[in-house]
Amino acid sequence: MQGAGRTEHGWYSQMKFCIRHGLAAVTAGTLLLLSSCQSPSKKVASGNEGAPPQRRLNVVLVTIDTLRPDRLGCYGYLKSETPNLDALAKSGVLFETAVTHTPLTTPSHASIFTGLYPTVHKVRDTGGFVLQTPYKTLTEILQQQGWDTAAFVGSAVLKKHFGFNRGFAVYDDDMPKPDPRSAAVENPERRAGKVVDRATAWLATQSGKPYFIWVHVYDPHYPYDPPSPFREKYRDRPYDGEVAYADQQLGRLFAAVARKSPENTLIAVLSDHGESLSEHGEYTHGIFLYDSTLRIAFIMAGPGVPKGLRVKQQARTVDLLPTVLDLMGDKAPHDVQGTSLVPAFSGKEVATGYSYAETLYPKINHGWAELRGMRTSRWKYIRAPKSELYDLAQDPGEANNVIGSHPEEAARLEARVRAVIAAGDGPEKVQTAMVDQRTMQQLKSLGYLSGTSGREYSLTGQGIDPKDRVSVLKSLFLSIAPTVTPSQRIQILRGALGQDPADPGVYYHLGDAYAKAGRYKEEMKLYQDGIRIGLQNAWLYSRLGRLYIQQGDRVEAIPAYEKAVQLNPSDSDSLNDLAMAYLDTHRIADSERTFKWILAANDQYAPAYNGMGLIAVQKHDISAARDYFERAAQLDPDLLEAQLNLGRIYKNMGDTGRARACWETFLAKASPAEYGGLIPKIRAELSTMP
Ligand SMILES: [Zn+2]
Repeated sequence: MQGAGRTEHGWYSQMKFCIRHGLAAVTAGTLLLLSSCQSPSKKVASGNEGAPPQRRLNVVLVTIDTLRPDRLGCYGYLKSETPNLDALAKSGVLFETAVTHTPLTTPSHASIFTGLYPTVHKVRDTGGFVLQTPYKTLTEILQQQGWDTAAFVGSAVLKKHFGFNRGFAVYDDDMPKPDPRSAAVENPERRAGKVVDRATAWLATQSGKPYFIWVHVYDPHYPYDPPSPFREKYRDRPYDGEVAYADQQLGRLFAAVARKSPENTLIAVLSDHGESLSEHGEYTHGIFLYDSTLRIAFIMAGPGVPKGLRVKQQARTVDLLPTVLDLMGDKAPHDVQGTSLVPAFSGKEVATGYSYAETLYPKINHGWAELRGMRTSRWKYIRAPKSELYDLAQDPGEANNVIGSHPEEAARLEARVRAVIAAGDGPEKVQTAMVDQRTMQQLKSLGYLSGTSGREYSLTGQGIDPKDRVSVLKSLFLSIAPTVTPSQRIQILRGALGQDPADPGVYYHLGDAYAKAGRYKEEMKLYQDGIRIGLQNAWLYSRLGRLYIQQGDRVEAIPAYEKAVQLNPSDSDSLNDLAMAYLDTHRIADSERTFKWILAANDQYAPAYNGMGLIAVQKHDISAARDYFERAAQLDPDLLEAQLNLGRIYKNMGDTGRARACWETFLAKASPAEYGGLIPKIRAELSTMP
């Protein structure tokens, strides 16, 4: 990490990486860029054409990330304590065979909120897609009819720029703040305790109006690190410990709900997907479509929901929206693909027999084939380069592929899959919508690698079968184990590269391992090799740009950054680095154009104002420069270059009081590791000032 670059005439520029700035601000710009790509707006009215529902019920939606139902007492698990969810199940309905349509967080949540399959709501992977469907979400339907709405989420992968804030008057996605002196990225996860604290505080302010609250707890997601006393109690089963901790915190939420008006309140609890826990050679989730990750917990309680009922029929995430609206006497929008589960409460059959499933994660993140499938109460069909069929009634563990002996069943389910895709002639095409690199860093630290290139993918279903790459999955998982040393990590990932030489996920992790070990030459060679074999990833080019900058080679850095921002035009960090490289090589017009590009998309991005200030200095427009530096410092008081430059401007203007304040702010916040050379100089200048 290098410190602030010093440009001519004593001005300070931002040429370090992992710079700190407001994430929400950056990504607001992402949305702005994306909005122009939206398809023509399609009006979808609620079934009652805007008439208010007959029963104005409060709705509490709880989604528990990565929760396997078979780890809850109410689903028959005896080794853990989940008393609060067990009690909720007793007071309402438990769906024994509930499934998601995709083992990925944001696509699964998009199905919960819209009642639509991923092929329709278009959120196809975590990180590279934003919910921007013209169809209304459950939140929008309720808000338009007068509900107070609020969301409290536990992970950066559901930050508001991914589009789930639609219809929420309050969308609390604050993740814990890092130490201002540290260059670390924002912590991407917040514990259930904090999420529930915020949610209960909001509930306490509610009086009278019906409300809709969404609480998302992320704790069971990898890494598994439950807090005490669950850490100790579940020492050998940390995943179970996370589940038990989440249950304890949700108990506080349910108690707060019970204090309000429980007789008017519906509660729905769903997992977004399960977790493989090494079954089928997968460790977490996202690659495969087995029941380890497709099965979810699904519990409802409240007015109209019978007590202590267990429903055996298949229930799907797309069914949540129509079920909630049905319980209020309202109908779902007619395009919704789910169906109300309310008839199942009185033993009637519901049309949930077929559940489409897909995962594009293997395609987008590893260059393998995407998977699709169809699940019925008896069969699971998985379309892959080598397709699979399981008889779930005989083989719930999906160990014996019986496609050879049941070709007619496979053909029937394949036709169902085709009907869902309905792509017309040729393979379905999907286009990723990018998020910035800082969000990528957060996603990466959570184990996601999505959204790395604004590209079109042709979903042919062909290529490397993910089940032929379980050894690569094992290596990737082993490489992130906390006990692995940096050199072991490199060795493991090199082995994975040998097995799967065109896998962008392996390049990403191995490059990161080289960078963390300070082995920059090998890191650079790796990326150059990746480009040679045709990898086209924005992160690859921006990392190359960073490596060139570290070597002091701004001329080589420029084309790398140009390629990176071409692949990901919403990556403000790379754009800022590119603009600074132009400035340092005296390409003032290019630099100014690039800073303006950033600000056009995102007028809250503080480093670009610092950059515009430096351009104004070059043009001898000191009053404009002062305005820009002031704006940068105001937007991000921790952007120390802005404090330095502002101090310089004030000093030159003879305003020593303000100059002193800026430089004292700098000295209070600057870490010697980053600003070691500058600190004594600023101190010396300060001591000579009156
Ligand atoms: Zn998830």
